[in-house]
Amino acid sequence: MVMGDLGRDVDVVVVGGGPGGYSAAFRCAELGLETVVVDAEQRLGGACLYEGCIPSKALLHVAAVLGEAERAREFGVDFGTPRISLDPLRKWKAERVIGKLARGLASVARSKGVEVIGGRAVFEGSRELRVGGDAPQTLRFTHGVIATGSRPSPLPGIAIDSDRVMDSTAALALPDVPERLLVVGGGYIGLELGQVYAALGSRVVLIEMLDGLLPGVDRDLVQPLARRCDKLFAEVRVGTRLTALRAAGETIEASYGDVTATFDRVLVAVGRRAATEGLGLQRTGVRPDARGVIAVDEHGRTADPYLYAVGDVTGEPMLAHRAMRQGKVVAEVIAGRPAAFDNVVVPAVVFTDPEVAWCGLTEGEAQRAGRAVKIARFSWAASGRATTLGRADGLTKLVADAESGRVLGVGIVGPGAGELIAEGALAVEAALTAEDVAATIHTHPTLAETLMEAAESLLK
Ligand SMILES: Cc1cc2nc3c(=O)[nH]c(=O)nc-3n(C[C@H](O)[C@H](O)[C@H](O)COP(=O)(O)OP(=O)(O)OC[C@H]3O[C@@H](n4cnc5c(N)ncnc54)[C@H](O)[C@@H]3O)c2cc1C
Repeated sequence: MVMGDLGRDVDVVVVGGGPGGYSAAFRCAELGLETVVVDAEQRLGGACLYEGCIPSKALLHVAAVLGEAERAREFGVDFGTPRISLDPLRKWKAERVIGKLARGLASVARSKGVEVIGGRAVFEGSRELRVGGDAPQTLRFTHGVIATGSRPSPLPGIAIDSDRVMDSTAALALPDVPERLLVVGGGYIGLELGQVYAALGSRVVLIEMLDGLLPGVDRDLVQPLARRCDKLFAEVRVGTRLTALRAAGETIEASYGDVTATFDRVLVAVGRRAATEGLGLQRTGVRPDARGVIAVDEHGRTADPYLYAVGDVTGEPMLAHRAMRQGKVVAEVIAGRPAAFDNVVVPAVVFTDPEVAWCGLTEGEAQRAGRAVKIARFSWAASGRATTLGRADGLTKLVADAESGRVLGVGIVGPGAGELIAEGALAVEAALTAEDVAATIHTHPTLAETLMEAAESLLK
């Protein structure tokens, strides 16, 4: 304890103000617990709001507008060559998008009586932590929630000190539009940001170490996206490992496969690492694994009876909506209510053009597990709505139990897949059968009908 600091006692301290942390804090406060959030940046929103979901989706919206304008030429509408001004774009993202949402979160916190303290938290024990920063203080608590999130992983074995080599946070700041951009990593972050920069005018080369883009996702769902990337990017190389990066004046020389090429910037998007270093967890009963991940049970409890953990710090899938659900569950558990993170699916979306979304069992997983399933594929070439949008490249896919017809998984590729997957998640979570989905009237003409059509094809 700092001299002169008598410390303060509260019911709940949440460390980290990202979606996991603020969801836990808001619900704790609603349930009558005195709740304080400690965040290193003294703000709510975390990586999601400031360097993740929201800024990337704002920039992808810009990319989508540019893409639509380009496509409009097909039906005789020509907007001419777009002129992009980075300053207004950055300002719109920072003020009209991030700033607006940040003000909203701050006002929700005020209305619920959740206090946000700025400073880095370090645990002194299982029921006490010290907050650094401008106004150091000690907090004692009955329950602690660790929600410190994750950070971009560095490139293993390749160290280079150059601001031309960016992680996703630096890339989202839009320092400029590099003429030549190398994207290292064919996961969702590399693909989303690669498409943003390609739309803004960069010549993008994307390399991925594994054999395909979006590892783990069924290939038929990835194919339309891969085709689009082949068109948008100068080059896509899978099965290609980056071996060296060298600063060469104002450029970066990159070696990968049998190539050495020069780029103006490099974006490294090779995954994220749970942020548990420096938290003082050795003074608690929590023992993160070698990757920094904290193991939790279905109630969000760690190995320490006073400490819970939610969000990216608990490992994959590192997604904001999972963090939010975990946060709400933990709050209920702390308040003594029966609750568990017993969700059947955590849906995932890649917000590229086209979007790719899936939830539950994939066809690949079913095959590997030797599970008897029926697969339905409905091509958007047969969808009235997709045709009016000029987007026959989409596909909606259902994976259902071979015997009962219960929907076990859904995959969608096409514009709006990120919205459409909500119906799939509900179907799997609520244990609906293909017959239930087929018998539900879907509005016409919509892309949602493709789920109904896919389900109908399983009844034949
Ligand atoms: C480019 C990008 C795009 C993404 N897009 C999506 C998307 O479209 N959809 C989606 O679901 N997810 C997306 N994600 C992932 C999403 O951002 C994370 O899953 C989510 O933010 C995790 O929330 P969290 O609460 O666990 O932690 P975070 O949001 O990481 O918040 C952690 C907070 O803890 C604070 N903190 C850390 N250590 C301390 C400490 N010792 N003391 C005090 N405070 C501390 C940090 O300052 C931070 O504010 C994206 C991520 C990136 C990088």
